[in-house]
Amino acid sequence: MNNKALHRISYGLYIVSSKKGDKFNGQIANTVFQATSEPPRVAVSINKGNLTHEFIQDSGVFAVSILSKDAPMTLIGHFGFKSGRDLDKFRSQNYKIGVTGVPIILDFCAGYIEAEVIKSLDIGTHTIFVGNVVDADVMSEVGPMTYAYYHQIKGGKTPKAAATYVAEEKSSAPALKPPVKALAKYECQVCGYIYDPEIGDPDGGIEPGTAFEDLPDDWSCPVCGASKEDFKKVE
Ligand code: FE
Repeated sequence: MNNKALHRISYGLYIVSSKKGDKFNGQIANTVFQATSEPPRVAVSINKGNLTHEFIQDSGVFAVSILSKDAPMTLIGHFGFKSGRDLDKFRSQNYKIGVTGVPIILDFCAGYIEAEVIKSLDIGTHTIFVGNVVDADVMSEVGPMTYAYYHQIKGGKTPKAAATYVAEEKSSAPALKPPVKALAKYECQVCGYIYDPEIGDPDGGIEPGTAFEDLPDDWSCPVCGASKEDFKKVE
């Protein structure tokens, strides 16, 4: 079986949010789809270990903020590689409360959908929640982020808790000879993001051609926010 075929399925990139009492949480998910149109219903697949899962089960409502193509890695990292058990993810964000009482992200949001859960299906590591759409709106004319764009253009990683995570295999392709003066790449030990000096960190204002050693001391991983000390040279 060739698992790589699974990578050929296309997805978007979303922040799925919910609430429990007066607490909010949200997480990045790519597994959101419209399940039926009459009546409009959407489905999301959420890891049972995630706090958002606990919140959706408790409140029976969720919102999907559809990320736009210009969403920075810092926003994706904030919701995708950190746990709401460690911090209030919405405290630092621009959001509004929807009709379900769930927070909706306002920045870099192409549109949003709010739903009330009518069914949940236990599928092992994850639960698929199906909900009736109770509100939705278009927020921006910038096109939606696709999962392929996130990986190819933004250099994004898939967290292990994601529904579509596939352990990455070591490439068997012969390595290209690096140019003699190639600057070293560094890998974030927290999320796996690779700092490539040739690309720099455009979202963080770091020019292409900047060596890792020359990054400011307060520079942090654009995906998960880890500090420079959490990076290791890629051999
Ligand atoms: Fe990181």
